Amino acid sequence: MDKIISLKRYICGSEEFNFSELYRNCTIGTKNLPVNVFMLEHKRQGTILINTGCSRLLRQNPTAFAKLLMRSKLSFKNDDGICSLLSAEKTDPICVRKVLLSHCDPECCGALPLLPKYELISGAQVLSVLWYADASDRIMKSTLPPAGIPKRAAGIFKGKTFLSQYFKWVYDIFNDGSILAVDISGHAKAMVGFYLPEKKIFFAADASIDETSIEQPLIPSDKLLGKQFYPDDYLSVLITLRRIHKEHPEIRFLFSHSESAITFPVTE
Ligand SMILES: [Zn+2]
Repeated sequence: MDKIISLKRYICGSEEFNFSELYRNCTIGTKNLPVNVFMLEHKRQGTILINTGCSRLLRQNPTAFAKLLMRSKLSFKNDDGICSLLSAEKTDPICVRKVLLSHCDPECCGALPLLPKYELISGAQVLSVLWYADASDRIMKSTLPPAGIPKRAAGIFKGKTFLSQYFKWVYDIFNDGSILAVDISGHAKAMVGFYLPEKKIFFAADASIDETSIEQPLIPSDKLLGKQFYPDDYLSVLITLRRIHKEHPEIRFLFSHSESAITFPVTE
């Protein structure tokens, strides 16, 4: 019996990407892609969110927001994002017991202060960006989790996984092997990806804009690399993900901006 029972996608904002500008060998042009938030149902841990998307809190500090809009062509409604979407389907946001954070960009942290009660889990480096937040880290003060929210860094995974061939450390979010995490920093100062072994789904956050550059040998332009915290690391993570895609074609990649998302159980 699987530990992860369901996966659902919520769209909390969108971002425009000009692929022809961001990759040297690409003629796709402009795509308007979603800002994805994923909700998982775990047999023992309950309702889990992966990231929280955009919310009105991003507009709270006009200077930081103007800077954010210079980096990314984001758009979103001026409401509380994921909390509104959950309430609209009669799910009380208090049901969310755990939030897994890939990295500390405003589009990931956007609703952290709006969710009422949860434990925040990520890699130790990602959490340390929250602890020692400074202006150079691109994080927004208005989206930092309130002081009373418990934060936990995932421990080392002790079992066997193919991921060990590609990453030095593999972390185990719930100490039950149901969700593993690996360091994919580069886009951000610290960033983790989450892997669901039961479903062979790899959520790789912003390690690529979407699946296109994993499936095709697109060459990131200087413009795309200039947007990354550590451009060299961004490239080496991209190469690693392409290797995984080639050597393990059964694994399905999901990104923060994937247009079509895998969901289960299949409802249609
Ligand atoms: Zn990001």
